[in-house]
This record gives sequence, structure tokens and C-alpha cells, in this order.
Amino acid sequence: MSNKFQDCSQLLIDGEWVETSDRFPVENKYSGDVVANVCSATSELVDMAIDRAKNALMNSVPAPHERASILRGAAILLEENRSRFIELMVIEAGFTNTDAASEVMRAGLTLQLSADVAATLCGHSVPFGAHPGSEQRIGFTVHDPIGVVCAITPFNSPLNTVLHKVAPSFAAGNPTVLKPSPLTPLTSALLGKILLQAGMPKGYLHIVQGDQHVAERLLTNPDIAFFTFTGSTRVGRIIQGHVGLRRSQMELGSIASTILCADADLDRALPKIANAGFRKAGQVCTSVQRLYVSREVLADVVQRLTVLAQEMVAGDPRNEETRVGPMISEASAERVNDWICEAVSAGAVLHCGGQRNGRLVHPAVLTGVPFEADVWCSEVFGPVISVCPFDTLDEAIKAANDTEFGLAAGIFTRDLDNVRAAMSGLKFGTVQINETSSARADVMPFGGVKASGFGKEGPAYAAKEMTVERLIVLNP
Ligand code: NAD
Repeated sequence: MSNKFQDCSQLLIDGEWVETSDRFPVENKYSGDVVANVCSATSELVDMAIDRAKNALMNSVPAPHERASILRGAAILLEENRSRFIELMVIEAGFTNTDAASEVMRAGLTLQLSADVAATLCGHSVPFGAHPGSEQRIGFTVHDPIGVVCAITPFNSPLNTVLHKVAPSFAAGNPTVLKPSPLTPLTSALLGKILLQAGMPKGYLHIVQGDQHVAERLLTNPDIAFFTFTGSTRVGRIIQGHVGLRRSQMELGSIASTILCADADLDRALPKIANAGFRKAGQVCTSVQRLYVSREVLADVVQRLTVLAQEMVAGDPRNEETRVGPMISEASAERVNDWICEAVSAGAVLHCGGQRNGRLVHPAVLTGVPFEADVWCSEVFGPVISVCPFDTLDEAIKAANDTEFGLAAGIFTRDLDNVRAAMSGLKFGTVQINETSSARADVMPFGGVKASGFGKEGPAYAAKEMTVERLIVLNP
């Protein structure tokens, strides 16, 4: 094992990089080589991180203009460290260079947006004049920091899922204790370094690496005021069980659908759909898993989507021609391959892909998938698109809604009546018109309904959720 990534292997507690003897390995997701052994936080260190975060908040909250300037400084440092971030994500997440570069670009925007929020976050005035007898009163609300924020993040977007929590939390004046995924811990450590370098006060960011035992210690500490979690619905339910009367934000699992109407511009839609289904090996919460296609254009769509899928080379993410890198683990790749095989045994037609080499799964297009098959009714989180024909748009909308999840959906159409039907009928946190379910700009209020969670990300929305809004009334 080379020492190239060891500088990102420590914990961050109160501004210091701390080592522990208990370590866990981080693998290169393509080769399987161990690239670093990361320190696992002990229960004592988790408690210490929360304690120091609490003290930081009691001692001094940096002024909004200071928070804005630190976040802007971090955006500059992020850009200066661009190639290092890309290298880390290619290695530990298996991203292609293009996907990793897009993560860094988005992260810069999230820092800038969070800086703007820090500088402008304020309450609103209350129109007391509307209430007889209260005409003389003057009232307004203020947003105070909520307290210590606990952020727990998944593997599949190791820079942006972290930054969408840490940056708005700091913008709102809160200290954060972050527990990144043990599968992709290195990127978050590098982010910690640039935030410290940008001037984030020492008690305002703590990084406790590790898996379930670290998370469980965080969940049982009463000094955490707010939990922000991105990950599976299974774990979200466990966390919510501990939250009690405290507040939380849950960004959970999904089965995302996209609908292609007969009048859609297929030249525009199909490359977007292929990219949204297969990039990052389909390990994106909004990946197109179900594609509903008007029966009028079904044959054409399946044929063209199959060609696009076959053109997306699966391989070593460091190679320029690779479009689909490895899945996060051999077990995940095996699961996806098994689900495809089970669907085919139950009558589905596999048009391309699906074969597995190690952690690579080649982009798969399926039709005729039985609705009971896992590849259809469970979250795949792999490079598989299942195509289903429809005769009326109502039928497609009803079928897309037929899941416990509700994160994002998309529809391609040029017909205003179809747009209206989709706007009101699709019960998802985001409905994209002439886009796939997977389109995201970081300025958006982003979040799910039903078992996909609650609360909104996007710096302006997340920062407000991480505050306590209080009312001040002046009775002259
Ligand atoms: P996961 O739920 O397995 O793990 C997420 C985090 O929870 C990790 O840090 C993990 O260590 C921690 N964890 C594990 N057990 C825990 C426990 N008992 N208590 C507390 N924390 C615990 O998710 P994953 O496999 O890393 O990520 C994939 C999932 O994340 C998918 O379901 C995907 O849809 C979802 N996701 C959702 C969004 C969104 O915005 N809705 C975005 C990205 C990913």
C-alpha cells in the first residue's frame, strides 16, 4: 500500500487531526487495492467532538459576514485543489474523471451559494396592522443557529452530499459533527482541510470516521440538536427512531421514473436518459430506474437506448473513454447482476449489458420486467434501466407513483396538457419537465416525499431548516 492517501486518514476533532489505533481499509474501487487505512473514532472521541462543538457555539458564533467570507475562501481553495479532489473520488468512489470534475464544479457553487445565504439569512416582519387591537405592535422573526448539527452521509457523492450539509449548517451559524460513509472517507477529510485553511473556527467542524458504532454513539447523544441524514430509507428509519422531539432532515432512497411521451423530442431525451441511468454506475438517488414509454414509439426507443447503452464503455474510471466505472463493492455488483438474472428468468428481455466483471456491471436495458421483480420494485442503485410501455399518460403517471418512494420524476413531452397532467399527477418531491428525474442544480430545493424522506437541501433551504425561528414583538 502506498502512503499517497494517508494524509486523509485521520479524524478532525476541535481543529486537530487525531489518530486512533483502530483503523479500517479504504479500497481503490476499480482495482480493489487498499489505498489508505483510516482511523475509526472511539466513543470517547465522538463524545469529545460533540462537547467541543457545543462549547464553540456557547463561546462565540462567527458573524454572518465572517461565515460568508470563510465559505468564499473555501470555494477558492477547492478550485486550487481541484485535481486532488478528482483523484480521490476516482479512486475511492470509482467515478470517471468527468463525473468527479462535475462534483468539484457543483461543490464550488454550493460553497458560493452557502456564502450568500450566510450573508443574507434573516427573518420576516409580521403585519400586526391586520389584527384589530395590535396596530401599534411591531414584530419580526430572527433565525438563530439551532445548535450542534450531526451530518451522516452516504458513499455515492462523497463531496456534495457532505457539502450540502456542512456548508449550510455553517452558514446558519452551527457547528457540525460529520460522519461520512466509511466507503468514501478520504474526500471528506480533504474538504475538512480546506475548510480549516479557509478559516473555519476550530470547534465548527469535526469529522468522526467509522461505521455503525460511530453513528450509534452520535444518535444517543442528547447534545445533538439537529440530524441531517442522506442514505438509505432503512437506515433513515433507524435514525428517525432516535431523534425524538429534535428536528431532522432525511434524504432517503428512491425509485425514480422518467416518462417519454410519443410527441417527445427523442434526439434530445434519449442521450440524457442514458446518461441519467448509467453514469456513476447508476449509483445516484435520482437515476432513471423506470422508463415509461408511449407504445407508439416503444420499438424505436428501445433500439436507440440499447445503442446508447452499448456505447457507454464500462471500465477503469481513469481511462478517458470510460463512461461507467465500478460499483462501490463486489457485493453490490453481484446483487445487481442477480436481480437482472432473476428478472430474465421471470420473463424479462435483456437488450444489452448486465454482465459483471468484478465490480463492473455493463449498462443494462430491460423490457417486459415483471412488476414483482426486485429490479423493478426495489431500489436498484446500479446501471439498469427497465422500460415499460404505456397507452395513456394517466396510466404511466399512476404506475410511476406506485412505489413507497417519491424523490424525483421526469417527463419529456411538447404537449401542454401532458405537462399539466404530470405537474399535478406525479407525486414526487421534484417533477422535471423535458428533463430526466436526475437533473439537479444546487440552487434547487431538493428533497423527497413518502419514504424518500423530508426536508429540503439546497443551501438557502437547508440553512433555514438548521435554525430556530423566534418572534420578537415590540409593544410601544
Ligand atoms: P446507507 O444508508 O447504507 O449509509 C449511509 C450512512 O449511514 C453511512 O455513513 C453509514 O455508515 C451510516 N449508517 C449505517 N448504519 C447506520 C445506523 N444503524 N445508524 C446510523 N447511521 C448508520 O446508504 P449508502 O449505501 O451509503 O447510500 C445509498 C443510499 O443513499 C441509497 O438508498 C440512495 O438512494 C440514498 N441517497 C439518497 C439521496 C437523496 O438525496 N435522497 C442522495 C444520495 C443517496
